[in-house]
Amino acid sequence: MPTSITPPPADDEVECANCGAYVYIGLTRCPNCGVSLYEPEDVEEKTSRFRSRSRFSRAVESILRKIRGEPDPAQELFTGALREKGLFEDLLRKVGGDRSAVERLIDYERQQRPGATRLTCLQNAIQRWEQENR
Ligand SMILES: [Zn+2]
Repeated sequence: MPTSITPPPADDEVECANCGAYVYIGLTRCPNCGVSLYEPEDVEEKTSRFRSRSRFSRAVESILRKIRGEPDPAQELFTGALREKGLFEDLLRKVGGDRSAVERLIDYERQQRPGATRLTCLQNAIQRWEQENR
């Protein structure tokens, strides 16, 4: 029997990403090489908690947020992206339509404040531009 051809894993088996051994699906560690077959526990917990939230409970939460006047996270992300686009275009106009110049200004602001978001960098770049071109 040729050893180079390995049979596919059975229905209740998964292939170990590290050593390629077929491991029973319920195991958390590969018995062959000992590698963990699953994501770290906190990540798994987060995703399963997210998945377990039903459409209904999300809808209720969304209504509650509206009552409390809190922004919807998805909506906030959306307006944030819109704002970033608006600021980018504002700065783009200021530098005469040169996209690479805008990127250079953003990079410069990021060097001044490492870890700042692109939105913050854009805001700072515009502020600096307005100060220098008054
Ligand atoms: Zn393994």
